[in-house]
Amino acid sequence: MNLFCWTGNPFVDSGISAIMVYNNRTKPEEITRDDLSNTKELLLNLFLQEQWVKGLNTIFTSNSHVTHASASSREKKKERLEKFLDPLLEISDEDLSGDNCISCGKHKATTLLSRTSLPLIGYENSNYFSHFSFGADYCAMCAFAAQCSPLVTYKVGKFFGIIHSNNPRVLLIWAKKSIDNILRQISIANYDGIYNEKYSNSYNALFHLTNEIILSYEERWKETNTSLRLYLFNNYTQPPKPPDNVVEIHDLPASVFRFLLEVKASSEFSDWQFVVGRAYYKSKKEIEEPYKKLSNTVYQKLMRYESILQNFFSMKNRLTFCKWNLVTIYLKEILDMSTTRINSIKKIADDIAEIIRNHPNGKKRLTQLETAKYYDHFRNVLFRLVKENIVQKADSPLITFDDYVENLFPEGYKGWTETRDLILFRLYETLHQWFKDENLVTEIEEEIEEESNELINENINSEEVQ
Ligand SMILES: [Zn+2]
Repeated sequence: MNLFCWTGNPFVDSGISAIMVYNNRTKPEEITRDDLSNTKELLLNLFLQEQWVKGLNTIFTSNSHVTHASASSREKKKERLEKFLDPLLEISDEDLSGDNCISCGKHKATTLLSRTSLPLIGYENSNYFSHFSFGADYCAMCAFAAQCSPLVTYKVGKFFGIIHSNNPRVLLIWAKKSIDNILRQISIANYDGIYNEKYSNSYNALFHLTNEIILSYEERWKETNTSLRLYLFNNYTQPPKPPDNVVEIHDLPASVFRFLLEVKASSEFSDWQFVVGRAYYKSKKEIEEPYKKLSNTVYQKLMRYESILQNFFSMKNRLTFCKWNLVTIYLKEILDMSTTRINSIKKIADDIAEIIRNHPNGKKRLTQLETAKYYDHFRNVLFRLVKENIVQKADSPLITFDDYVENLFPEGYKGWTETRDLILFRLYETLHQWFKDENLVTEIEEEIEEESNELINENINSEEVQ
């Protein structure tokens, strides 16, 4: 009989991933009863250590097996924990047979778990009092797996985080990192508790974890349509007061995951880091490791499905912060733009660059493209450029009918700013040297300094530091 399978329950699946990695298993179905005994010994070591008990106090409440007031000594904690774990492991195959476990649906539910053994399960008067019944029906295996979930839990500010994904490889890569951290704690006999890298901003934590996972991955994941979900929760005995929410769910879309994978595999990774690095809110206060605490507009926009095109360049200073190639990856993976459309916009922008260089009205047209507030204005400037292209006796038209309706403005006025941003980006990139020669560009250092000051004025608010 298989003891385990992936369930979709974040606490159980993360526990399964911990058991698998700790016992060198590649599939949940490979987990043996000996593996469970081996993992139980790990719990009996870790969960009695002071820093771990502190974390468990929030994960399983102050009434759990090792945090209850009656378990004051280490011996008592061990005794109580064993008393709970042993019956789970001693259950026979026969007693497991059934299908009413609410987690796996493949075994008989024999244990009524409360939130002292599985976070966020309801109790009377609580928000999570599902089915108006106390506790939830779990089989012994899922109940044991849930006890192992703290092994791969990640601290984010005042919350505890669980990573879940539609791709089990993600869980295993994360579990490997977490278990390595635990083995390090054991080897130096310094138990610093639940994995904590001192991130307090949840989006920053999610992107950091995603990067860690991508870094560890060696094969191509593009085809897997992988998405990530970060559950952040706390499970205090007393319900927290707003705004101390007890659960937050942050989804990293598959398109963003694919984009990050592509960037990592390309030669644009350092440019991407530069773009992200510019997007942290600035603080007047001295903050240690600000990238763990300050909000980042690029991350925020990606999570809200908003465009980050304007983070790739500065219109004010006619500068780009990365190469067209990075923008192309973004357009393909996140905006789902076709290669034909991308290449068409690029070619038109390159032809416009030629006109700007060579025509007496070039600089004026550039400013008009930059300052067009409405679709009609922008279109009129393009038409003037089309005429100037004819005056310059170019071999081919600047914009064909097909370009116009299929590539520049496929949805009419909707999305015209996206096309404008792409044309401007490409103009700034292509004309960079010409801007310098014509004294049309401010040095990047001055620009960054100026924008920093603007951000300080605009964003000194509570959103900065969570
Ligand atoms: Zn189960």
